[in-house]
Amino acid sequence: MSKSPLTLYLAAPRGFCAGVDRAIKIVEMALEKWGAPVYVRHEIVHNKFVVDGLREKGAVFVEELSECPDDRPVIFSAHGVPKSVPNAAQARNMVYVDATCPLVSKVHIEAQRHADAGLQMIMIGHEGHPETVGTMGQLPDGEVLLVETPQDVATVTVRDPQKLAYVTQTTLSIDDTADIVAALNARFPAIVGPHKEDICYATTNRQEAVKAMAPKCDAMLVVGAPNSSNSKRLVEVGSRAGCSYAQLVQRADDIDWRALDGIKSIGITAGASAPEVLINEVIDAFKSRYDVTEELVETAIENVEFKVPRVLRVPA
Ligand code: SF4
Repeated sequence: MSKSPLTLYLAAPRGFCAGVDRAIKIVEMALEKWGAPVYVRHEIVHNKFVVDGLREKGAVFVEELSECPDDRPVIFSAHGVPKSVPNAAQARNMVYVDATCPLVSKVHIEAQRHADAGLQMIMIGHEGHPETVGTMGQLPDGEVLLVETPQDVATVTVRDPQKLAYVTQTTLSIDDTADIVAALNARFPAIVGPHKEDICYATTNRQEAVKAMAPKCDAMLVVGAPNSSNSKRLVEVGSRAGCSYAQLVQRADDIDWRALDGIKSIGITAGASAPEVLINEVIDAFKSRYDVTEELVETAIENVEFKVPRVLRVPA
């Protein structure tokens, strides 16, 4: 039987960002340097495939530092950790490597700088997300107020409206965040924002590519994990940009073929923690069922790279 034609739009950029790439390298290099087991506090990046691969090589994933022995190295995930975590590791004389993405660390430094200047901090983020927990944990408990929506801005109680600053999670929806920032500026005209946008280049670029791709597609799939903030935002951005069916899939097995019945075009992208091998798996699944014509929807070219920490670098 002949296959139906299908235009497969592929978003670019998509998938791994520089922070995720660096964090995975750090675990791999730690395993080479110290041997197994190496402990990793929280999933190094939000992707089961990546985590399972590192586990097979000898990484042990835990949620809390208290689950790690004193005599094995521990790595902190790309999302960042509250200050109390490295402090506790130091107190126990542990070897630790911080794989926090440098763009998250930049937000941590910003938060501290504002606090040092006597400003109360507001964080725009998702409650309970490890990055939000890590950024809020740069300052003493209760010092950072979390807002998730413009409605939260209307009800938040601040110490002094003249002495306020805000930071954001790096993986938010650009449009939703703009609404929250507008609400903050309207209610607190003196509030100080970041010098440069906290939402990172990778989140921004992936959302822009989806905005360009979504209106062309009958359906859109985002390869990513259910706990990946930037992947979930891509699904929302796709729906809002005009694609009536936008779904998150972890890999090809998750594709709901019945829901895709009759489509003439599909858009594919991936969150910043989804490896290219899973994207290719999804593309191959379409190629096995359809007569596929691929089209790249490229809105930016990325060449960002982050160095690994000195403790793991081989001396030149
Ligand atoms: S999504 Fe952005 S902030 Fe998060 S690891 Fe990637 S580059 Fe860093």
